[in-house]
Amino acid sequence: MGNSAKSTWKNILGVIQERINSQSFNTWFSSSQGVELKDDVLLVEFPNSFFIDWIEEHYYSILEEAVEQVNGNKLRLAFKAVKQQGDRPRKKKKRLILSHNETKLQERYTFESFVVGGNNEFAHAAALAVAEAPGEAYNPLFLYGGVGLGKTHLMQAIGNFVHRQYKHLNVLYTQAENIMTELIEAIQKNQQMAYKRKYRTKDILLIDDIQFLYGKERLQEEVFHTFNYLYVQGKQVIITSDRPPREILTLEERLTSRFQGGLVVDLQPPDLETRIAILRKKAEAENVALPSKVSYYIASRVKSNIRELEGCLIRLLALSSLSGQSVTEQLAEEVLKDLLGSTHRITKQMILKNVIDEFGFSEAELKGKKRTQKLALARQTSMYLIRTMLNLSLAEIGTFFGGKDHSTVIHAIGKIENLRKSDVEYYQQIQRITNRING
Ligand code: ADP
Ligand code: MG
Repeated sequence: MGNSAKSTWKNILGVIQERINSQSFNTWFSSSQGVELKDDVLLVEFPNSFFIDWIEEHYYSILEEAVEQVNGNKLRLAFKAVKQQGDRPRKKKKRLILSHNETKLQERYTFESFVVGGNNEFAHAAALAVAEAPGEAYNPLFLYGGVGLGKTHLMQAIGNFVHRQYKHLNVLYTQAENIMTELIEAIQKNQQMAYKRKYRTKDILLIDDIQFLYGKERLQEEVFHTFNYLYVQGKQVIITSDRPPREILTLEERLTSRFQGGLVVDLQPPDLETRIAILRKKAEAENVALPSKVSYYIASRVKSNIRELEGCLIRLLALSSLSGQSVTEQLAEEVLKDLLGSTHRITKQMILKNVIDEFGFSEAELKGKKRTQKLALARQTSMYLIRTMLNLSLAEIGTFFGGKDHSTVIHAIGKIENLRKSDVEYYQQIQRITNRING
C-alpha cells in the first residue's frame, strides 16, 4: 500500500521535474511524499500548508497534466501538511486538490475567502446574485480585469456556491484554451457530437480567460453556439476575460444583442486598505499572526496583482516556519527582494537565445515561416521549452513566434514530447539546453 503510494508519487514527480526548473522543483517538491493510495485517491504529504498553497497556485495545471500522463484520468490527489503552523492547534482536513471528471473547481475559491473592497464591490455583488439565482439574475455574467485581480476566484466562488447549495445542478469550470484544444481535436477527428454533449449538458458553464478566442472567428462561432444553446434553455453562463469586451467587436455585439439579460462588470486593482485586508485574511486562514507593520510593508510595495501579493506572504510564512525566524519587516524585505528583484529569472528571450546557441539559427528564422527540417525542430524545441518552463498559454506562444496558430504550438509540443522519449540523442540535446537555461 504505502509502497505503491510512494512509487506513484515518484512517477508523477518525475514528470514534473522535467517540466519546471530545478530550483523550483527542489524548493517546492523535493520534500513531498506519497503516503497513501486508496480508492484512486493518492494522499501526498508536504512539510506544511504553505507548500500546498504555493503548489496549488503555481503548479496546478502541470500537476494535472502529470497525473494524467502517469495514471490516465482516474487518479485524484489529496494534499496534507505534516506539521500545522501557527500558534493554536487546529484541525485541518486534507485538501483534495484535483478532482477529475467533476466540476474542475478548486475548493478554496469561495465567497468567504474573497475580500470585498471598492475595487470589486460591484463584481462581487453581481457574482453573489448569480450564485443565488443561477440562470435568472444576470446571464451571461462577464467579468473582466487585469491579471491576478480575482476573476478566476470570483467565478469559481459562484461555481462552488452553486455546487454546494444546489446539488442537482451540473457545474463545469473550464478555460477557454481547453475548449479550443478540445474543439480542434473534435473537428479533426470528426467528433463534434461528443464536444457538444459535454458542454451542452451543463446547468452552469464557467469559461475562464476567453481572450484566447479573440481573433479566432471559427472557434468563437462554435463557442457562441454553445452559449446560445445554454442561454435559451435558461442555463447560466459566466465568462472572464483580461480585456473588456468592447475591444473585440464581434464579442461585444453578440453579448449585447443576443444575450439581453447579460451583465459586464470589471475588477480594478485593490487600494492599500483592501490589499492589507487580503493579507490579513490569508494569514488568518493559515492561522498565523501577521504583525500589522509587516502587512503594511508588503501591501505598500506589491500593488497591482493580488496573486503576487499572496505569493509574497506565502513565501514569507514558508521561510519563517522553515527557518524558525519570526515574521518581521526584515524578513519580508528579504523575500520581496528575492521575488521582485534581480534573481535569475527565466524569460522567453532567454530560452530562445539558448536554443539559438544550440541549433545555430537566427531569431528571425525561428520566428519566421521557413520550414526546413532542422529549423522546424529548433522552432518546436523553443516552443516546447517556453511552454513547459514558463507555462505560457498556447496563444501567447503563437504570438511570440510571429503570429503562429495555436494548433501549430500544440503540434510542436506533442512532437517534442514524443521525440524526447524516442530519441536519445535529442533527449541529451534538450537536456543540455534546459541545464544552461537553469544556470
Ligand atoms: P485572475 O483570474 O483575475 O488572474 P485570480 O482569481 O486567479 O486572478 O486571483 C489571484 C489570486 O489572488 C488568487 O489566489 C485569489 O484567491 C486571490 N484573490 C484575488 N482577489 C481576491 C480578493 N478580493 N480576496 C481574496 N483573495 C483574492
Ligand atoms: Mg484567472
